[in-house]
Amino acid sequence: MTRKTVGAALLALLLLAGCGKPGTPPPKGPQPSSLPSYQVRSTDAVQGSPTLDSARSRGHLVVGAKEDQPYLGQKNPATGEYSGFDIEIARMVAADLGFGPGQVQFRTIASANRETALQNGQVDYYVGTYTINDNRKKLVGFAGPYFVAGQALLVRKHEDSIRGPQDLAGKKVCSAAGSTPYQRIQQQYPKAHLVGYDTYSACVDNLITGQVDAVTTDNAILQGYAAKVPDELKIAGQPFSTEPYGIGTPKSDRALRLALDDALARHEANGDWKAAYQATLGLSGVPAPVPPPIDRY
Ligand code: GLU
Repeated sequence: MTRKTVGAALLALLLLAGCGKPGTPPPKGPQPSSLPSYQVRSTDAVQGSPTLDSARSRGHLVVGAKEDQPYLGQKNPATGEYSGFDIEIARMVAADLGFGPGQVQFRTIASANRETALQNGQVDYYVGTYTINDNRKKLVGFAGPYFVAGQALLVRKHEDSIRGPQDLAGKKVCSAAGSTPYQRIQQQYPKAHLVGYDTYSACVDNLITGQVDAVTTDNAILQGYAAKVPDELKIAGQPFSTEPYGIGTPKSDRALRLALDDALARHEANGDWKAAYQATLGLSGVPAPVPPPIDRY
């Protein structure tokens, strides 16, 4: 086996076992029984959206997501089921558009491919730690924000020379290509040796085997990896950016975007948002924040 496959196998084992050392109780993943169920509205509740018109004739929604981000968007390799906070956000808003749990099909799309997937109609909308910003708004629409994260650093447990992005000079730091954390390191910390992969889990494999010194992305994502293997990994320092998460939509489909804003507002008001958070991302140890104000642009 190469060092890389050893790393992948090691991470898979650690994640499966849910602990870094025998005797440590496995941190719990989302329990299906604790997840809220969402009231499904009639399928014609939203009018004037070409994306929804084609989803209705197809009979289901296709939603872009991540499959390797613990507590946020994770795919069970045995069952193919997706779970996590982003997945719940996708399901709760789908219910308002008239699509029940059996009518939402998830498709994994990596960070670098989100805009193209929305532009080409490969997905109807996208929920996967997707930061709203002006550059992306030139290409896609965003409902929300529904959560705010911040860029942080994940290091090996005994690393003490990296406490913030200023310490990355001369160090190998890994992030997902096409992501805002990748771009921030490239632009603001050019002395770091930046390594780009498709996914953060590939970066984490390389961190565990020692090929990179740090992984950088949003704290919400890193907390999930750290919580799975607390004996191996830790978050270093404080978040150093603001990453408001939105639901990505095709840019020209304003009716869909505004319907998703309405849906988010409804589920934040009726307690579904908080219940979904507590059953998923809350398991990584951070109590539910107050959701950010929705920006109906
Ligand atoms: N929120 C950041 C972004 O949208 C990082 C997480 C991700 O790559 O999904 O680029």
